[in-house]
Amino acid sequence: MKEHLFSAETIEHYATTMHRGVEALRRRVHDLDGPFSGRTVDEVAPAVDAVDLDVPLGDVDAVLTELGPVYLDDAVWFHEPTYAAHLNCPVVVPALLAEVFVSAVNSSLDTWDQSAGGTLIERRLVDWTTRRIGFGGASDSGADGIFTSGGTQSNLQALLLARGEAFLSGHVDAGAPFAETMGRFRIFASADSHFSVQKSATILGLDADAVVPVRTDAHHRMDPTALDLELARCRSASLVPMAVVATAGTTDFGAIDPLPQIADVCEQHGVWLHVDGAYGGGLLASTRRRHLLQGIERADSVTVDFHKTFFQPVSSSAVLVRDGATLRHVTYHADYLNPRTARLPNQVDKSLQTTRRFDALKLWVTLRTMGADAVGEGFDAAIDLAREGHAVLRDDPDFEIRVAPTLSTLVFRYRPDGVGEDLSDELNPRIRSALFRDGRAVVAGTRVEGRAWLKLTLLNPAATLEDVCSVLEQVRAAGRDLLDELHSFQEVG
Ligand SMILES: *Cc1c(COP(=O)(O)O)cnc(C)c1O
Repeated sequence: MKEHLFSAETIEHYATTMHRGVEALRRRVHDLDGPFSGRTVDEVAPAVDAVDLDVPLGDVDAVLTELGPVYLDDAVWFHEPTYAAHLNCPVVVPALLAEVFVSAVNSSLDTWDQSAGGTLIERRLVDWTTRRIGFGGASDSGADGIFTSGGTQSNLQALLLARGEAFLSGHVDAGAPFAETMGRFRIFASADSHFSVQKSATILGLDADAVVPVRTDAHHRMDPTALDLELARCRSASLVPMAVVATAGTTDFGAIDPLPQIADVCEQHGVWLHVDGAYGGGLLASTRRRHLLQGIERADSVTVDFHKTFFQPVSSSAVLVRDGATLRHVTYHADYLNPRTARLPNQVDKSLQTTRRFDALKLWVTLRTMGADAVGEGFDAAIDLAREGHAVLRDDPDFEIRVAPTLSTLVFRYRPDGVGEDLSDELNPRIRSALFRDGRAVVAGTRVEGRAWLKLTLLNPAATLEDVCSVLEQVRAAGRDLLDELHSFQEVG
């Protein structure tokens, strides 16, 4: 067993093993000619099922060879320019370099005595992010935050802090039974907000109808007047507004809720404002579009997903708070870990997790290698491409698109002349499946007002308008084929 463990004696073994892995990856990437193999679950499963996990192969090359059929042959490759489905990004090389150290040194960021300098690096990056948000730096303004596993956890933690603060607010009767107060808490979010808001409300033990959907405008942005009305209605029903969740970049439309107006409303009502910037957070690094986040500095908490628009490998996210003292709602002490008397910076005091990866190092090495402007330019390039793609879709009679993109998604459908809404609803999900089955392009689907649409999420700075057009041509070709099939079926029927 000894030779498999990482140690001073086995560092050479480590180096040659990693080199073999990198070589195998290099060959793989060279040979790729599309984002997906197109194979189905039934086609992929047997190779995975056939592996006897109690009989090791022992040899690195044999293992790398086996990784083909069980994983790599059918992986979905986000860096391929015709991958345009979900909010996944191609990753930058400096972050991959950092991964070597994240995994091999294996620091755990819960306590100083398990990470030392790692804690300081994470704190500097929290500071960097809070400054970009406009909270001021952690060192001088009291702003703070913590790295998390993703936007879902960041949103959960933000709402947990908001719940803690709501309990302390003047709107809650301190003598009332806990369950009764919990039942009165309400969260306000637009109908287009991320489903993790609803999930968080449930995890936090709130009522099933605790999340109040706020009306949106034609651009899928929260209507601040409607928010004001909902908050007033909530109060007059003796309910307690616990938080407003504004989204800076909705998952489908990339819409950015009007943050300054929402901040005004929150201020008037004395409500915690959380900005879910899991998608739009990348604009913090943009030199051309940072203004789109104007108002974010008035939030109480912000979610940023570095593993989306900062081109970092999964996982890398953070929740940032204007007032670091609010993190006390997740502070618990264990004598063996972070005793109350500890004088050292223990990040576990601020986190929902205990053992925690040093994901911050990836962003650190990225910023130290490329710089923030280059990261921001990557996101801007994807947004530019979405605008060009929008112009193409708008001028093509076979396609429908209603909203010009704010960020880098395009919600559209294939609906040539003569295709009614119902037929379009049948057709578009099938187009998506047909493309996935073919594997040369991957697109997403969604529903808008009950109707089926397709979605391109563009996050690849290297993708070109030609790539987008080639995806659209594949959509059109699949659509035509499916229409022919449907027609001949009707003629026969
Ligand atoms: C992706 C996303 C999330 C969830 O983030 P994960 O990192 O996937 O957990 C939350 N909110 C929005 C707006 C998102 O786009």
